Amino acid sequence: MQMREEFPFFAAHPELIYLDSAATSQKPQAVLTALTAYYRDSNANVHRGLYTLAYNTTERYEAIRAQVAAFMHAPEAANIVFTRGTTDGLNLVAQSFGPQVVGPGSEILVSGAEHHSNFIPWQQLAKRTGATFRVAPVTPSGDLDESALLRSITPQTKLVAVAAVTNVAGTRVDVAKIAQAVHAVGGYLVVDGAQEVPHLPVDVSATDADFYAWSGHKVFGPTGIGVLYGKSTLLSAMPPVQFGGEMIDEVQDAESTWAPVPLKFEAGTPNIAGIYGLGAALTWLGQQDRGAMAAHEAELVTALRTGLSEIPGITLYGSAASVAIVSFNLAGVHPHDLATFLDEQHIAVRAGHHCAQPLMARLGVPATVRASFGPYNTAADVTALTTAVATAGRFFH
Ligand code: PLP
Repeated sequence: MQMREEFPFFAAHPELIYLDSAATSQKPQAVLTALTAYYRDSNANVHRGLYTLAYNTTERYEAIRAQVAAFMHAPEAANIVFTRGTTDGLNLVAQSFGPQVVGPGSEILVSGAEHHSNFIPWQQLAKRTGATFRVAPVTPSGDLDESALLRSITPQTKLVAVAAVTNVAGTRVDVAKIAQAVHAVGGYLVVDGAQEVPHLPVDVSATDADFYAWSGHKVFGPTGIGVLYGKSTLLSAMPPVQFGGEMIDEVQDAESTWAPVPLKFEAGTPNIAGIYGLGAALTWLGQQDRGAMAAHEAELVTALRTGLSEIPGITLYGSAASVAIVSFNLAGVHPHDLATFLDEQHIAVRAGHHCAQPLMARLGVPATVRASFGPYNTAADVTALTTAVATAGRFFH
């Protein structure tokens, strides 16, 4: 309960049971304060003005880049590119790095449990370059099948793109193990960290991922800001994909040269307020007992899976080890109808294909209902959801 008090959203919506944190998290007061404070106290563009205010804002902006690097255990701040979010970061890698390493005769491998953001960029890269696009199987319950993915790596595999935690079943994979297998065949690993960063510590140096993308808004920060980590040697050799202010070294009529990383990937005025908010979110997170938060969310997953499994007609996807996500269906009730019914009880869940149509096709369903947790959810939220789903089961049959 104490945790909820730090999130003004819950005071504004006292009746709402928010179970959609995998879509976006709620924001602690510290983040809201940082956003306002930027506009009120520090509003100046970065990397341009020579006056004191602009200098100080640039210093803060770069200090937050260093904070993000430390948060992910990246070697240095220059490994961190600010993006609009996970989608933006993954597309940047696909467009800039992709053509450098794949072509006819090489393979790009993803899993069948990926979010569209970590699926389509690679599918399209394969189409553009003549590489082969391969999709590793999933388990019957919709979990990312780590051993099947590892078995699908061949000497031709040049790129593997995988979610550290998937967004429908909440499957966690061993990123270090996958990185080792990909590197053993001379390939590169791109990690979609959108659903891992909010719940688990990330150490890119230990796992040895080549790229790691995530979104601020799922980690208690603002929308429109994200992070792409990349290894220095790779980022340095990559061409920029957006051109304009602040990403250049020198521009002449005939030719231009680029700023060093990471600025060559940050054309135009960045989301400075978003970066201030992200810095506040990471500071807030650093003040929490993250182990206790993860344990609490795991308890909620167990309680919800247990409660739902007692309801006739329930299909549960994923496994008991799911990270903060429970996806399910109720026989004979369309997920959209169930979500609408739950909305009438002030319960916010997500229903749909969750931007994972390839996974839905493998599961043979058009959609699922997904409940996902943040640290502010409680056992009472779980009870409310299971009671409402049981009522829906009686109501629709
Ligand atoms: N990857 C995964 C696993 C996700 O869950 C999401 C968002 O739901 C994304 C990528 C895309 O994130 P964003 O929309 O913030 O770019």
